[in-house]
Amino acid sequence: MSTHTLTSPVTGEAFAEVELLDVAATDAAIEHAHEAFRSWRAVAPGERARLLRAFAAVVDEHLEELAQLEVSNSGHTIGNARWEAGNVRDVLNYYSATPERLFGRQIPAAGGIDVTFRQPLGVVGIIVPWNFPMPIAGWGLAPALASGNTVVLKPAELTPLTAIRIGELALEAGIPEGVLTVLPGAGSVVGERFVTHPLVRKVCFTGSTTVGKRVMAGCAEQVKRVTLELGGKNSNIVFADADVSAAAAAAPYGVFDNAGQDCCARSRILVQRSVYDEFMSHLEPAVRGVKVLDPSDERSEMGPLVSAAHRDKVQSYVDGAHVVIQGDVPDLGGFWLPAMVAEARSTDEPAWQEEVFGPLVSVMTFEDEEEAVALANRTDYGLSGSIYTRDLGRALRVSQGVDAGNLSVNSHSAVRYWTPFGGFKQSGLGRELGPDAPDGFTEVKNVFFAAPPE
Ligand code: NAD
Repeated sequence: MSTHTLTSPVTGEAFAEVELLDVAATDAAIEHAHEAFRSWRAVAPGERARLLRAFAAVVDEHLEELAQLEVSNSGHTIGNARWEAGNVRDVLNYYSATPERLFGRQIPAAGGIDVTFRQPLGVVGIIVPWNFPMPIAGWGLAPALASGNTVVLKPAELTPLTAIRIGELALEAGIPEGVLTVLPGAGSVVGERFVTHPLVRKVCFTGSTTVGKRVMAGCAEQVKRVTLELGGKNSNIVFADADVSAAAAAAPYGVFDNAGQDCCARSRILVQRSVYDEFMSHLEPAVRGVKVLDPSDERSEMGPLVSAAHRDKVQSYVDGAHVVIQGDVPDLGGFWLPAMVAEARSTDEPAWQEEVFGPLVSVMTFEDEEEAVALANRTDYGLSGSIYTRDLGRALRVSQGVDAGNLSVNSHSAVRYWTPFGGFKQSGLGRELGPDAPDGFTEVKNVFFAAPPE
């Protein structure tokens, strides 16, 4: 086994060593999870629900510890990190209602009855990226466990600490050993093994589109179930009939949250030409007002980027862009960039076309509704976006026209654990969260029972 050194995004200093698992250790954990599946699937629904609620309660008791761990490891602001830990608790509580509601159907059939059962899949492999380590782990593991599957979970190399702790808390809550196993390791080792190991029946992958395509191709070899939550290039469309100052005040929250390291970041702003100057005059103070501070400072609204390599990648987009508004950064060392707004002069600019995943947003004008929708759709991605207008008919038309899985009207976000989340086009495959997520962790079995002859 090898180790990986974790570096503080705030200061750039090394602060922890994490063991990376090899193929043999991964295989052993998958086999153990397969053994544990036999008994976990047989746990009575009410008892499985109780265990999930106990898990949620233990997470809640350790909320501050988890949040502080995320601040140190990922550089998330303390406010965001508390929300993220709370999201794990909430999603566990939400799906604790699932075990007693995994309904099948009784279907009319001559000569007997026909019944469907929802059965768990077996071992589910969850692969998590570095940008939201806690929520994305929770979004996969809670419905998977609730539906009677066991889980092996691989956090990202850069941000494994909260997942490791959540794995320990599951044991503390009474979740049996082997039901949830956290396996820190390299994507090319542990992640690949989830894809190739025949005992892993489904892979839930969240990460880049490039790696997602590879995961999907690997799963195809075994016709393995797979969900993909991938990248995004999301538009914030502001019409002239909107409350322009409110749209400008909300725009920084739509893109600079988590320092722009958010698949739903609205990194394009499309503004109707007639209100462009008005919009920009409100946007400038809003961007300069973003509190970019040490993430452990309670006032901090934006922290550093996760690593030096990622900061440099974002900087390469900044270098090719026409930055017109720029905030400040604290002098702490580490991997910092300010909040920035660029005027996009062409739809070919990399910062306009590609997922920047950092605190840079590009602004462009449009003439009419048709052009706004066409510009928003000019991307291979289709994850998210916002529409600002006071015209309900326009809000409906544009939300139907934009090819994306999650849109918000007059709001900067549409992600809630009780609503479905996922992407169109190359932003992904399948949906997480919401009432239907457990369906994706079960197979439907149809059984015909012939009536005995009279
Ligand atoms: P990444 O694709 O580099 O890595 C994601 C995970 O996959 C990591 O755990 C990594 O170790 C693992 N991995 C790498 N190679 C692998 C392989 N060959 N087989 C199996 N697993 C492998 O992504 P990242 O840089 O960690 O995360 C940023 C990306 O995630 C962005 O593109 C972002 O948009 C996307 N993302 C999407 C969503 C969503 O819900 N749509 C949410 C968060 C992040």
